[in-house]
Amino acid sequence: MTLTGIGYDSHRLGEGRRLVIGGVEIPSAVGLEGHSDADVLAHALIDALLGAAGLGDIGEHFPDTDERWRDADSIGLLRAVVEMLAAARLAVVNVDCTVVMEAPKLAPHRQAIRECLAGALGLDGARVNVKASTGERIGFVGRGEGVAALAVATLRSEA
Ligand code: MG
Repeated sequence: MTLTGIGYDSHRLGEGRRLVIGGVEIPSAVGLEGHSDADVLAHALIDALLGAAGLGDIGEHFPDTDERWRDADSIGLLRAVVEMLAAARLAVVNVDCTVVMEAPKLAPHRQAIRECLAGALGLDGARVNVKASTGERIGFVGRGEGVAALAVATLRSEA
């Protein structure tokens, strides 16, 4: 049986924060604000995986009111979700993601992000696609106020 899930996340950009996208720190004057490292792409991907598995959402498993997840490395959270899937005998087939960000350009970092996510997912890089889009200077993304990410994941039940 094949299962599909969708994930979406957004975070505000602010000064004095790191810009971490898909586990890769990108040089930037502003970074993403949030309780954890605010890795918007990792969070969208986690929700896609949990969605496909019928296991709820990131807020249920890693609530932002819990001090354990303050400044948490979201790739660690992603790894924990992959372990939950394995316990449910669900294997990740492939994931596809889009990061919507006005600046800086994601393209120079896309391969590193792909490799980081593939490592956490235990997948070949060819099964992890990362796309970049902009807000065309409109909306919260276009004004540089925040970054959004979308993800779709496909799982295979091995039960
Ligand atoms: Mg988030």
